[in-house]
Amino acid sequence: MEPYRPKHIYVETRIRQAPRTENILRSLSGCSVHEIQDHRRLEDESVPLKGYNAGIKGNVLVLAHHPGPCIRPFPGAREDPAPTEFYVAHANGCPFDCQYCFLQGYFDHGAPVLFVNQEDLLEELAGHLEQNARNGPTVYHMGELSDALALELWSGFAAAAIPLMQGYPAARLELRTKCAGVEALLPEGPPSNITVSWTLTPWEAWERNEHRTPSPRVRIRSARACQEKGYRVGIRLDPALVYPGWESGYASLIQQIYEHLRPDGIESFVIGGFRYSPILGNRIKERFPSNSLLLPEFVRCKDGKYRYFRPLRVSLYRELVTQIRGHDPKALIHLCMETDQVHRDVFEA
Ligand code: SF4
Repeated sequence: MEPYRPKHIYVETRIRQAPRTENILRSLSGCSVHEIQDHRRLEDESVPLKGYNAGIKGNVLVLAHHPGPCIRPFPGAREDPAPTEFYVAHANGCPFDCQYCFLQGYFDHGAPVLFVNQEDLLEELAGHLEQNARNGPTVYHMGELSDALALELWSGFAAAAIPLMQGYPAARLELRTKCAGVEALLPEGPPSNITVSWTLTPWEAWERNEHRTPSPRVRIRSARACQEKGYRVGIRLDPALVYPGWESGYASLIQQIYEHLRPDGIESFVIGGFRYSPILGNRIKERFPSNSLLLPEFVRCKDGKYRYFRPLRVSLYRELVTQIRGHDPKALIHLCMETDQVHRDVFEA
């Protein structure tokens, strides 16, 4: 797999002269550079690639100004009057092209957008930590609207955010990624409240669904290198996928995880069955007509998303929990966006 290197860069006029923009353009010399007014209105701009397709995802990088705020309550915590879980939007979109990616139903175009007014973002994070994290446990996620580290080579945002977490032991920063080789980009001696987490699927699901991403094997090697550098590592089986042979696929993935990673350096597992909104379902059908992601039985849930039929979800979760606990009976395992009933069926049955 070729590492992502854009061919076209679209730069918002207002940050064209910013020092970080200049640095990125220098490090990507040879790309065609196009000035645009607003990354949210790409259809109106005069640029070579537009729309939501593999061409724009793999070949374009947009440099933009984030008007702020860049820290927002995490989905699920939005109705909470005092949320404790947030995401940090340092970028929108990502250069990888996973067929199940929920961002396909979220953004109008597929180009990854990197916000270069990083000082504003870091200042907001520092203020947020001071205001919220002093009051109790708070979690910040990077990797909600983008892969947390896919653009790190040019942004350096995670490396700058990590030291800010020092002094806030009640807060935690999670960097969720599918990248490999990231250990070289992250600082030495991280505070203990940083988790670098990898989303993993079995080999055959990776081949079918996760275009341009590093293989699960090299991601696990990168996770190992991060453990050796002092980082806590998280494993995210989200989306967990049902396909013919999923049981043995996950068994072999979980075996590999425990062959390479120290169990005491794994912060937690998060498991979430594949789910999709109607917009995402249409995007998947339109972009990948022969994909089998939507073939199992789904039910529409209260939040409007389709999830695997409950007995199927429960058997998927039970199987994965059994496999993980077979390697480490003390492993901390969470289910993502599931009902209390499903939690009971999985953990108390
Ligand atoms: S790596 Fe994550 S953000 Fe990027 S396309 Fe895949 S699912 Fe979407």
